[in-house]
Amino acid sequence: MDKFLTKRPRSNESSVKDDNATTSSSPKRARVEFDPNNLVADPGLRMTIEKYDVNIKDEVRRFYVSKGPCQPRTHNFPKKKYGNQYRCFNPSWFDSFPWLEYSVEKDSTFCLWCYLFKPTTYGLQSGRDIFSKMGYNNWKHAISTFRDHEGNVTSIHNFAFDKLELFKNPRQSVTQMISQHSSDMEVAYRVRLTAVLDIVRFLLRQGLAFRGHDESSSSKNKGNFLELLYWYGARVDKIAKTLKENAPGNNQMTAPKIQKDLAHSCAEKVRSLIIEDIGDRIFSLMVDEARDVSVKEQMAIVLRYVDSRGQVIERFLCVEHVTDTSSHTLKKAIDNLFAKYGLPLSRLRGQGYDGASNMRGEFNGLKSLILKDNPCA
Ligand SMILES: [Zn+2]
Repeated sequence: MDKFLTKRPRSNESSVKDDNATTSSSPKRARVEFDPNNLVADPGLRMTIEKYDVNIKDEVRRFYVSKGPCQPRTHNFPKKKYGNQYRCFNPSWFDSFPWLEYSVEKDSTFCLWCYLFKPTTYGLQSGRDIFSKMGYNNWKHAISTFRDHEGNVTSIHNFAFDKLELFKNPRQSVTQMISQHSSDMEVAYRVRLTAVLDIVRFLLRQGLAFRGHDESSSSKNKGNFLELLYWYGARVDKIAKTLKENAPGNNQMTAPKIQKDLAHSCAEKVRSLIIEDIGDRIFSLMVDEARDVSVKEQMAIVLRYVDSRGQVIERFLCVEHVTDTSSHTLKKAIDNLFAKYGLPLSRLRGQGYDGASNMRGEFNGLKSLILKDNPCA
């Protein structure tokens, strides 16, 4: 047993920490010196961690952590009679349970992790101290009891293991790593999102198509959006670090749906600026009708107003789909649109429609419906 007790922890880190611990202790109290020669290796004989002086508790823990669990594999384990059978401790259990310790003195098993880091507040509950204080030695049910002791991720045993990991490497504990990792990911996400938004704004401003005919990785021309994004990445190192293989597969920000979402967001922003610019001034409405390739009836809506500098401004607001081209449907679509953007019909002062279109009749109907609501329009 002496071979365990004469060894000191050898790493530089621990010796530095030992120095810190002794200098930080209060000068008024009688200093308790840590002496590894006083520590017992047999888990059945050692003192509980709570009984050590608060100033040397961590040094005691560090000593036991560096030594590892007490696993005397070559010991001649005594046999006990269970019914007609004799059973004894099986050293192969050490392989399955890395925390397992065996006390030669008491012929019992203990848990090193729970001995070192089990929170004392759980101590009063029944059965909680078996592996940290009393010792377990019913070899008939050993494996199932060991598994029960490990429990699920929220068990005291696993809590003690987390504390052990934190103790061994405070800067690389799982919690620390996850929080560090997620904050790095968030920064990368912001860089990626800003780059993608820049591309979206450029394409929208220039009225260029986003998508390509072939956007697969082997394609020579992946379309304006992807080509421009990768061109950007090839020139700006900071952006390249957040694209392609440097981004999570489900967070590339290049999916067609994302492109559409961002374009819609830009459109909403522009529309709200137009509405803001109109303010409470009067405006007039210009509507034209078109049919797209899928024979869907569409209504293009333009607002015309005088801005704060006295300039006449014409702004394209949106394209509205209409189910049919009857004047009532058109009026309903205009009403919905005005309600959506908070434009009152009472401030409408003019209407302009394509007089030559085959929808002249419907537009005339729409005009009179609007005039019914607001004679000034
Ligand atoms: Zn345990």
